Amino acid sequence: MTLVIHDATVVTVDAQDSVIYGGAVAIEAGRIAAVGPSSEILARYPQAGRIAASGKAVMPGFANLHTHLGMTIARGVFEDLSPPHKPPFTGGLSPIPLPPLDPEERSLISQLGVLEAIRSGTTAILEDWTGIEGYVEALAATGVRFLLAERAWDKAKGGIGDQGGFEVDRALGERCLRSIEALHAKRHGMAGGRISTGVSAWAPDMCSPELLRDLRALQQKLDTVATIHLNQIWGEVAAVKAVRGRLPTEYLDEVGFLNNRMIGAHCRCMEPREEALLGRCGCSVAFNSAIAARRGLSPRISELESAGCNIGMGTDNMAEDMVEVVRTGMFMERIRRADGRAPTPEQALRWGTLNGYKAMGFDDGGALIPGYKADLIMIGLQRAHMVPVMRVIPNLVHQGQARDVEDVMVDGRWIMRGGKVLTMDEERIIAEAGRIGRIAWKRLFDSRPDLARPPGFAPLS
Ligand SMILES: [Zn+2]
Repeated sequence: MTLVIHDATVVTVDAQDSVIYGGAVAIEAGRIAAVGPSSEILARYPQAGRIAASGKAVMPGFANLHTHLGMTIARGVFEDLSPPHKPPFTGGLSPIPLPPLDPEERSLISQLGVLEAIRSGTTAILEDWTGIEGYVEALAATGVRFLLAERAWDKAKGGIGDQGGFEVDRALGERCLRSIEALHAKRHGMAGGRISTGVSAWAPDMCSPELLRDLRALQQKLDTVATIHLNQIWGEVAAVKAVRGRLPTEYLDEVGFLNNRMIGAHCRCMEPREEALLGRCGCSVAFNSAIAARRGLSPRISELESAGCNIGMGTDNMAEDMVEVVRTGMFMERIRRADGRAPTPEQALRWGTLNGYKAMGFDDGGALIPGYKADLIMIGLQRAHMVPVMRVIPNLVHQGQARDVEDVMVDGRWIMRGGKVLTMDEERIIAEAGRIGRIAWKRLFDSRPDLARPPGFAPLS
């Protein structure tokens, strides 16, 4: 059945950033069939089901190009524990480890992340983690589009930014390669193609040249997308320099890992010659603005973009709010460039939608263009912080909030409607996640009395 959403403010994110006030979107068989003025579209589809959407904006859903859903367990705890940016470097991204979770707890916490993602208008997510097979069915049931990037590494001891040299564990690397292949064989294309799989290398200082070459070969064999945390922290850069005698991006280039279906997440502790290399290879960059701001680091997005990189956006750790990410990214770039006009809200919105879809290999999504996937959201504009709506894209990017998202559609199917998430039991997931959080953190601190709790930590009795 055809559906027409009419009398809406349609934000297309097409090549001209077209906005149609009093516009309509026709949806057929999971795809955008037509976009145009309401009278025209309604006349063209007289038999269609109709949704009157005056007072609402209709736009493509956000693409979260880099996240770890399970890290929502660490919200409020890890945000202020970043590693130092100058020597002496410490290993890992936090001096406190993530509390271990059993498979059921992990699945539930990941669903919590997806719930927040849907509520902020996200329709596509790149999930980078290990053991994704353990919660893939729960993810598929949420109705969101996923690129699942099972992670590989073969550094025997130590985490990102550790300065203790590199001891290779080939068996570990082999196991990771097999997990990526197994996930692909079993899950790629499931849920009518809504689930796809990719290849993830953890980070340049976590992977040997042999593993990176194997991962690149696997990416080609599976004909998919690859991703890696790249130039994330200064400790990583120092570790790669010490062991490989190269900068991280040069190291990847040397082993042949850079390609135009590769997503470098972060790209912030980077030399200009690395930016040029990434651009020349046509790589995508996941600009994870909110976590970057929390860490006090910023990538040079305009330089990366002019070098030829495709810029998308991600939430990374502890949060899934793409509304915040898009605004934070625009703010950060304006501060860094000392420019109150650029980037424009139109550019930032493109990073958060169309470019993310493109990077994930979903070339027919991320914009309201006929033939594209019907992955869209509706946003309530009749709000104290939104009216008057004279230029809707600046309103959305400068003033919009996640709670303005009222409806979310993926593949032509509503997964949130009128403010209610239809695919998940929201109340239960929130209650369970709170309970699991308390249990998991208590378990961790009970087993590790050496760990100091950050100030203001809730009692764990
Ligand atoms: Zn990450």
